[in-house]
Amino acid sequence: MRVFNFFHIKSCAVALILVFVANAQEAPAQGAHGIAVADIDRSVKPGDNFYEYCTGEWMKRTEIPPDRAGVSVFSTLADISNKRTAGLIEEIAKSNAPTGTGTRKIADLYNAYMDESGIEAKGLSPLKSHLAAIAAIHDKKGLARALGESLRADVDPLNNTNFHTANLFGLWVAPDFNESEHYTPYLLQGGLQLPDREYYLSDSERMRNLRTKYQAHVAAMLKLAGFTDVNARAKRIFELEHAIAEKHWTIEDDQDIQKVNNPWKRSDFAAKAPGLDWAEYFAGASLAGQSRFIVWQPSAFVGEAALVDSTSLEGWKDWLSYHLLEAYGGVLPKAIADERFAFFGKVLSGTPEQRPRWQRGVAVVNGLLGDEVGKIYAQRYFPPEAKTRAQQMVANIVAAFHKRIDALDWMTPATKAEAQAKLESLYVGVGYPETWHDYSGLEIKRDDAFGNLWRSNLFEYHREVGRIGKTVDRHEWSMTPQTVNAVNLPLQNALNFPAAILQPPFFDPDAPDAANYGAIGAIIGHEVSHTFDSEGSAFDAKGALRNWWTPADLDHFNAATAKLAAQYSNYRPFPDLSLNGKQTLPENIADLGGIAAAYDGYVAGLGGKTAPVQDGFSGSQQFFIAYGQAHKTKTREEALRQQVLTNEHSPGEYRADTVRNIDPWYEQFEVKPGGKLYLSPEDRVRIW
Ligand SMILES: [Zn+2]
Repeated sequence: MRVFNFFHIKSCAVALILVFVANAQEAPAQGAHGIAVADIDRSVKPGDNFYEYCTGEWMKRTEIPPDRAGVSVFSTLADISNKRTAGLIEEIAKSNAPTGTGTRKIADLYNAYMDESGIEAKGLSPLKSHLAAIAAIHDKKGLARALGESLRADVDPLNNTNFHTANLFGLWVAPDFNESEHYTPYLLQGGLQLPDREYYLSDSERMRNLRTKYQAHVAAMLKLAGFTDVNARAKRIFELEHAIAEKHWTIEDDQDIQKVNNPWKRSDFAAKAPGLDWAEYFAGASLAGQSRFIVWQPSAFVGEAALVDSTSLEGWKDWLSYHLLEAYGGVLPKAIADERFAFFGKVLSGTPEQRPRWQRGVAVVNGLLGDEVGKIYAQRYFPPEAKTRAQQMVANIVAAFHKRIDALDWMTPATKAEAQAKLESLYVGVGYPETWHDYSGLEIKRDDAFGNLWRSNLFEYHREVGRIGKTVDRHEWSMTPQTVNAVNLPLQNALNFPAAILQPPFFDPDAPDAANYGAIGAIIGHEVSHTFDSEGSAFDAKGALRNWWTPADLDHFNAATAKLAAQYSNYRPFPDLSLNGKQTLPENIADLGGIAAAYDGYVAGLGGKTAPVQDGFSGSQQFFIAYGQAHKTKTREEALRQQVLTNEHSPGEYRADTVRNIDPWYEQFEVKPGGKLYLSPEDRVRIW
């Protein structure tokens, strides 16, 4: 619920199957600055379908490339960022940097990944010792140890909205909910290959169909890895995952900050969640010395630990082997990588073609050596003038929030003071971080794609484990400069706006202010709004989990947000599927708060003057159109369905339509009763 857009790289293993971050399209035509007049469909009334009005012509002429699940402003900018990154990597590869340097690691990591014939020649040999270790497990104690050894730092429920790990559990090291000055270990449920429990439990024909295809895929993967009796094994693996899914929490519950703050002592695990030999598990995970954890979904831990006991050792060993294949399939021979794409790309996301190898290579380098690349990227592509201009917009929008909070008639003075204090101490990072990750302890070899991924995942894991107990650095970033996204970090009370999102059409130093405020301004406002949304409001100015709202304030907030949830639950992308207004609520609140504050910031910046008319549009019209156009998205049906089921962000169309809650939008586009988006003034949701 924190990142602005949903296709961020979640973890290195997942990066290999991500479908959006890719390349193929050209940059948007530059030359014109400001809103894209050619995208507007003037045959549509803004009050009937604002998204279609702003983007209709773009929707008509845009085709989703065969190697994509969808296209959007974000994916187009990601293309540019990826091309630049690929260019940097190529330069680095040619420079023959000395062994041991960061640039040499970038070159070796990329080249090892690109060396398909080398990977082919090795065949399955990189897997052998790992599969043999699984085969040698002879009791549940050994199993617990192996499960512990597979724990990785691959989830991040608050900053990067990443709840998914295919390992039994996932580790997140972050400031402690209850003592925000130090880092603490959080443990999250895991164990599924499919994106969410719904894929195992839903009774729809579509999902039943997917499950049949998934089992066939599991069998195919095992066969490629040389297993016998693959159908029976696949069935067992599926049944185990199905049983795990039954224990899992829903996304809605995962997002409920009040439910997830469950400190457990290490010594409590055996009694609270019997079935797994926790002493072995924590020893395997190098966490035997850690006395306290926060368990995100306690009942899932109880259920999954019990399954370790009740499911056969052979079943778990098959599950471990298969999960290993999936995690490393991208750096194994082509037949395995292709089989993975055939299921996760084609069947699950509806993408006909796999992205070219070099694009996947860039994603791997960004995933594993992101800061090393980012250092060079920021230097090359983010001039100090852009930073100054963006910081000015941030200041104006934060000032608008200060005023909006002051003016709220429903909020008590005590709560207002807390909210203002949060704004006061908010750290806003623009462009790139102040310090960079140090990869000097990571060994990257030119001829070892598998080993590079293996060592990187472990390196990252131990880096995170090593932070436990240390003092929190509130200026630390959670995104690289080359990432096209933005993020709110509630436990640090901080925002990150990477260099790669601060580009046209979101941010263009040569465009009118109206267009910049409608696009990047609303994104900045969105992230600031997360500071006060249903989750942000649970954290105070220091990032501690503390309720600083009076009950009366909270009642008003809950009533207003329930109205917004109902508004979104009414949207139906497909006749058989509507949005889940609760699942998407924090994001929808942020969109609404963001556009409102950005509009104020824009108007304040005019200083009483009238903005110049451009292409027949007033400044305010340009502002709203820029907002609608920032959400341009065309997505394949399968991927859109997946998003609706599993993501906290509403599809672009509905994000754009939130303008129906903003009074000036009605005046600017003469929207009257009878318009399909028309809401009577009392039905418009006002939160901030
Ligand atoms: Zn957000």
